[in-house]
Amino acid sequence: MRAVCPRCRRLVEPGAPCAIDASEVWTPDDPEGRARLVDRMWGDDAARTRLLGARLPAARRAKLGLVLGAGLYGATYAATGDPILSAGFGLFGGVVGLATSVTRGLRYIPSATTALPRWPRLGPGHIISAAECISPGSLMRCAAWAVELRYTGSWGTRTTLRAGASAGLDIALEGEARLRVAPGALWIASSLVQLDGDDTAVDDLVRWLDPADASAAWKLFPYNEIHEARLAIGDRVEVSGEVEQRPLAGDPTGLYRDAAPGVLMHVGLAVLGAGH
Ligand SMILES: [Zn+2]
Repeated sequence: MRAVCPRCRRLVEPGAPCAIDASEVWTPDDPEGRARLVDRMWGDDAARTRLLGARLPAARRAKLGLVLGAGLYGATYAATGDPILSAGFGLFGGVVGLATSVTRGLRYIPSATTALPRWPRLGPGHIISAAECISPGSLMRCAAWAVELRYTGSWGTRTTLRAGASAGLDIALEGEARLRVAPGALWIASSLVQLDGDDTAVDDLVRWLDPADASAAWKLFPYNEIHEARLAIGDRVEVSGEVEQRPLAGDPTGLYRDAAPGVLMHVGLAVLGAGH
């Protein structure tokens, strides 16, 4: 998986449209693909130039600081009648005004991500076996993982990357049916939990996905929060998505097809929710 859908911002296999929104997907490693992802995230060339021009020039920032400082001086003098205390507060106000206007000038907000759909629900089950995999968020061993990178500020939150996968797992559905999730992309449709601490593994993931990240003027996956969901063997899950019956693998002769019930497999994206 080394391509990204510009609409739902999922990490996907290159060369096929997104399984959720049928959007064309692009590879950040390829300069043209990266340019298209930048356009979708930050606007085209003209929009990005306007964004840069909208930054407050240094002189205006300093003036804004002075205005804020003078305002605070006046307010403190009026309240206390002490010109020295007022000058101290005024200076502090000036510095605060300058600092906040600088950060405000530098903060760009990436475009919004499309919300994930409501998938058709198949039913509850539990994970009976799985090949072990490791979540790039917490580096914990698990049967399946999903990670979202989010960029959050006072203005709101944007999801900048979604990724989820397993190394293959089997689910016993309620009743007799078995469901096999093929190795590769999946999605865990549960609320993800924010991780604290070490984000070096995610930094590595971003660098692997977008080698130009460190030197690029426009980041593809800005983030200040990592959210994760993990599933383990034995977990109850709620299976969603479109499935079909397939003959059991490991029976190439087909001789026992009538006896063996076969397994259900997802047609598109496998979607699992944490069960209750
Ligand atoms: Zn998509």
